Amino acid sequence: MDRRRSRPHPSVTLTTTAGSLVLQIVDADTVSQYPVLVRHGQRRTIGLAIKEAALVIHLPARANAEQALPFIQQKAAWLAKHLGNVDNRPKPPDFADGSSIDWLGEQLTIVLLPGRTRGVEVEQDGQYLVIRVPTGKPATVIPPAVAEWMAGQALAYFLPRFDSYAQLMRLTKTPPLSLSSARQKWGSCDHKGEIKLNWRLMQAPPALIDYVICHELAHLKEFNHGPAFWQIVATLCPDYKARRKALKEQGTAWLSW
Ligand SMILES: [Zn+2]
Repeated sequence: MDRRRSRPHPSVTLTTTAGSLVLQIVDADTVSQYPVLVRHGQRRTIGLAIKEAALVIHLPARANAEQALPFIQQKAAWLAKHLGNVDNRPKPPDFADGSSIDWLGEQLTIVLLPGRTRGVEVEQDGQYLVIRVPTGKPATVIPPAVAEWMAGQALAYFLPRFDSYAQLMRLTKTPPLSLSSARQKWGSCDHKGEIKLNWRLMQAPPALIDYVICHELAHLKEFNHGPAFWQIVATLCPDYKARRKALKEQGTAWLSW
């Protein structure tokens, strides 16, 4: 039953599509294509790097990309794994009908309906996010309406989790919690002990939200990022390192709109 054992290594080829070089990876029955960027430099060896979702081939001055193919084939498994990971990273929503949007670790399918409504109306219906847009309004009215919808639910979602971690820390009084709309930060804790959590976290899986909650609560005891601070985070959230890394890797798309 172990399909992995019999699965052949992914095969890779370089092809040219519309004049540009493309890396094609065939793994089991999936075919994926990635753009290839070729960089020539003062070097003797071939080097490979992954940047965003593209393969960058570093070549000696006079070499061409085809000469790198045997080397690329040797690295097929590595390329498939890492480019696959990049592929799986969340992308910013485009708010088109039928597209998806991240919501608490799941994906909602956006359904756009023209409506006779005054403003944009956003409503979750199971796995769907139904957005009614007044006829004649431009698509630019959609993202702020979705943002408002998410922010509108954030505090009620964060509060019970926040309270339970505050109890775990044996805080005598639950600190005040409010929302932020920051574009760079997931949360903050100021000198007065007031904590803010970014409503954009509603796009993240709950485990990552909990990490941010633990992080900000730990600042109530340690107002820095020293070893004592991380010790507190670890008692609340033992696998915080993995969660922190996941938030860094996946969070860019969630902060981008
Ligand atoms: Zn911090």
